[in-house]
Amino acid sequence: MSVFYFAIGACIGSFLYCCIERIEQGITIGKARSFCFYCQKNLTLPDLIPIVSYLFTLGKCRMCKRSLPLSYPIFEFICGILTLLTHLQLLTLREYFIALILISLSLFDISSKSFPFICWLLPFSFLFISSENKRLALFFILLSVTSTLFSIGIGSGDFLAFALLALEITPFSLIWIIQISAFLGIFYMLARKKKGAIPFIPCLTLGYFITLILEGINLIKSF
Ligand SMILES: [Zn+2]
Repeated sequence: MSVFYFAIGACIGSFLYCCIERIEQGITIGKARSFCFYCQKNLTLPDLIPIVSYLFTLGKCRMCKRSLPLSYPIFEFICGILTLLTHLQLLTLREYFIALILISLSLFDISSKSFPFICWLLPFSFLFISSENKRLALFFILLSVTSTLFSIGIGSGDFLAFALLALEITPFSLIWIIQISAFLGIFYMLARKKKGAIPFIPCLTLGYFITLILEGINLIKSF
């Protein structure tokens, strides 16, 4: 049964990855069948099996033999694991939903350094209606507007991602996430030895996962 839920999650990941690629390329999501972005040829059913097709083709397109990004199977694998953890009730449905949004925003940040506002606004509005932590979320939106108007060294999208998290988790957990993600960001900046902006949303997402794990094993308590 676990394999079934993992496979469902990997399929969700495959679909999300496809949507992200199409949004980045300016292609309507439901317009065409899945195709290879290099040779433009339509993919067949065996090419669409998440993770397995990548392993069988050794990470290459079956038609044009160009190498496909490793981020394909990694993204599908993470979605599979998240779905399995939700099935095992180690994640709530809302934590699962936020995790999927954050890893999608991370992929945008890594691959095109973009923050698609609409991909944040839709889930944010959905969670905002039923959330009890609206004030903190609105504070982060205010910070986002401030960073759009004045350069304060942190991207406005990063604050919007914090606003999304603030809807669902306690301020105490949020402080942990801020500290862990800032540490990861500094570590990444030092490790790559190159100046310039770094994709921070992946650090924030990792900070969220680490905080969930620490809370799950009672190393830190959520108040
Ligand atoms: Zn191809």
